[in-house]
Amino acid sequence: MTLNTSFERHSLPLEYPFTIARGTRTKTDVITVQIEDDTGTVGIGGAGPSAHYGETAATVEAVLPDLLKVVEDVGDPHQLARIERRLRETVERNPAARTAVSIALHDLVTKRLELPLYRYWGLDPTESLETSYTIGLDDPDTMAEKTETALDRGYSTLKLKLGTDRDIEIVETIRSVAPDVDLFVDANEAWTPREAVSRIERLADFELAFVEQPVPADDPGGLKFVADRSPMPIAADESCITVADIPQIADRCDIANIKLMKCGGLREAKRMIHAARAHGLEVMLGCMTESNASIAAACQLTPLLDYADLDGSLLLADDPYAGVPMPDGVIDLETVDRAGTGAVADR
Ligand SMILES: [Mg+2]
Repeated sequence: MTLNTSFERHSLPLEYPFTIARGTRTKTDVITVQIEDDTGTVGIGGAGPSAHYGETAATVEAVLPDLLKVVEDVGDPHQLARIERRLRETVERNPAARTAVSIALHDLVTKRLELPLYRYWGLDPTESLETSYTIGLDDPDTMAEKTETALDRGYSTLKLKLGTDRDIEIVETIRSVAPDVDLFVDANEAWTPREAVSRIERLADFELAFVEQPVPADDPGGLKFVADRSPMPIAADESCITVADIPQIADRCDIANIKLMKCGGLREAKRMIHAARAHGLEVMLGCMTESNASIAAACQLTPLLDYADLDGSLLLADDPYAGVPMPDGVIDLETVDRAGTGAVADR
């Protein structure tokens, strides 16, 4: 069949400037891919590129014509395995660009079959989870104000960004305004192994669920040093990119933080989830700052997860796409009344 493809860039302001240990952003540039079949059915997919992994909106735009040519050459969106292999042969890196194509194909295929994506996979929508909502780094009082706003909006699982010399004060302040919220922290590689151990010992007083990426990904021994000494579970994010990383991190952490934009597509994400389980790890699905053109697809994997950190669209001032409903942060697949990933233009 003939498949018509296109893509466009959206520059989306964030609700708040978003600061992590590595820097601050006020907007996110995402790319939306559309793949249309000869009946006029359109699959939508999004790329939320991350400079930390070598991608920008410009690199996504640079490789998408070659990736979409593969899709047009194969000409059958149901040939997901063959297309995926050829996408990886075309650009080995650029995982966010490949992910946008992967999502658009899955959206198109399941719209053609008139099924929500989770039903195509046979997943149980009643196994829903609440997404965590991220509070970016700021002074402790501002982070406390944002926490109160988040609680007012109904969120009850919060992720705090850390990686400063005020980390203990930040967590203490947040706990004073949100004593009952489920809380975890993400240092984004900012600590040395010894710093991490001493901070985590002090943070253990504040009933955190776990600590994400305490030390740099290029120090795997440091991650093991911390995990062996930590009184609470450790999640690996920057240390956990593709399925090949899962065996490497298996004895160095407790939770694998998998992201579509790191791994290159929905099929690779599923392989990572199953590999992580086989290695005794718990599974979190995370995200970048992304629109619902990609977050909606990630939400479809929720029944396979222990933790969902899928607040990418919630951090935007305005998302041009609607996705899977998240009342009070609960990813509600059961109420999705449309085929595909659930992403739909909202303007
Ligand atoms: Mg992280």
